[in-house]
Amino acid sequence: MADVPHPASTVSAFPAAAGRRALALRAAVEQRLVTPEQPLAGLLDVAGVRASAAELRAAFATPGVAVTHTFAVKAAALVPVLRLLHAEGIGCEVAGPGELALARAAGVPAELTVLDSPAKTDGELREALRLGVAVNADNFAELARLDALVAGAPGGLPASRLGVRVNPQLGAGTIGALSTATATSKFGVALRDEGAADRLVRAFLARPWLTRLHAHVGSQGCPLELMARGVRVVYELAERINAEAGRRQVDTVDIGGGLPVNFASDEVTPTFRGYADLLRATVPGLFDGRYGIVTEFGRSLLAKHGTVLARVEYAKSAGGRPIAVTHAGVHVATRTVLTPAVWPLRVIALDPLGRPKDGEPVVQDVAGPCCFAGDLVAEGRALPPLAEGDWVALPDTGAYYFSTPYQYNSIPRPGVHGYVCDTDVPSGVRFGTVRAPQTLAGVVAESGGGDPEALAALG
Ligand SMILES: *Cc1c(COP(=O)(O)O)cnc(C)c1O
Repeated sequence: MADVPHPASTVSAFPAAAGRRALALRAAVEQRLVTPEQPLAGLLDVAGVRASAAELRAAFATPGVAVTHTFAVKAAALVPVLRLLHAEGIGCEVAGPGELALARAAGVPAELTVLDSPAKTDGELREALRLGVAVNADNFAELARLDALVAGAPGGLPASRLGVRVNPQLGAGTIGALSTATATSKFGVALRDEGAADRLVRAFLARPWLTRLHAHVGSQGCPLELMARGVRVVYELAERINAEAGRRQVDTVDIGGGLPVNFASDEVTPTFRGYADLLRATVPGLFDGRYGIVTEFGRSLLAKHGTVLARVEYAKSAGGRPIAVTHAGVHVATRTVLTPAVWPLRVIALDPLGRPKDGEPVVQDVAGPCCFAGDLVAEGRALPPLAEGDWVALPDTGAYYFSTPYQYNSIPRPGVHGYVCDTDVPSGVRFGTVRAPQTLAGVVAESGGGDPEALAALG
């Protein structure tokens, strides 16, 4: 397979990733991972995930600096994915007991796990401290709860590394719902609020076991410069706390995740390297060996490596507009369907064998199977004319798409399959099941099917 270079060489060699994807799409049809009765699946490029992880590690590697990379589990909450990333040296950032359970099931150790969430319960905090999972407190009330737990720890010293999340209040990116550093964002201690920074410094001085500061400044739509300025604000606060404490109390800065992803082509831009270099220029003191660094990237590690593959069930037309009715809808492309202007996805037209389809492009809608009019993954898109029995592929859906399904219309969750290219097998591709397709019995069971009388018998 001469047109498929060794995948691990570099993630930025995007034609290689596109070549692997094309092979996998065809092989998924040929090997019947998708069929007329199983018309939807998510595919994950294992070599691509490994390459992104390696690129992240290489970008931040700095002599004398302890760098801990964690993956934001919400971006692809699938145990084998967490396991694969762990094999590449990456831990987990978890936002609650479900994600923590997934990280533990993947074998990710406590020292590579960070718990961030704005609404941790007492039980979740106690469990995190029992396990030795790092915790970033969101607010002063949570710090008071930690006081009680730490007081009860052996020797009054927690096994966990504890920190506080701050909001540098620098402003929004282009996507309001994903902008975490606005004046009124719900996350962390709002540093620019009257007296808040002073109060936070006092809180650190009173709690010698607080050793970390955390900020997650943005996500998709956030300019890199804004993210880097947010990290600088956190670094400056760490310097101030340490100066007032007269010792290096804050020894680690958790810079969060948020590197945006290019959904318009196969090009990987921006890169981890570019962001790390910008951070080195903006916050040089963070890399001089006095601080450890924690990262929490999600989308930028996984998005480019996932593809939704869905069958075209019918091709019809309405008001002169051709419509391909497919099995890719709001249940696997939730953000794209609900806010299409913010989250456009590419659509690749494939023939019944899963090969790229030719043909003079026609402006058409690509609809999903769900029962509401807005269930479109692409509207007015010029594509080769799609016909019954064709397939569509939605690239760049490895994070926050098929791994985060929405149970609208009780459509079973699709299977997710990882792939590697292998010239020793006839199709050139080997698959591994990440998540089996959900069964109808599974849908019924999680919809109260275990006790149909629960309401009628109430009276
Ligand atoms: C969601 C989240 C991340 C990951 O964000 P991406 O944009 O997917 O990189 C990291 N840290 C925290 C606290 C988050 O909530």
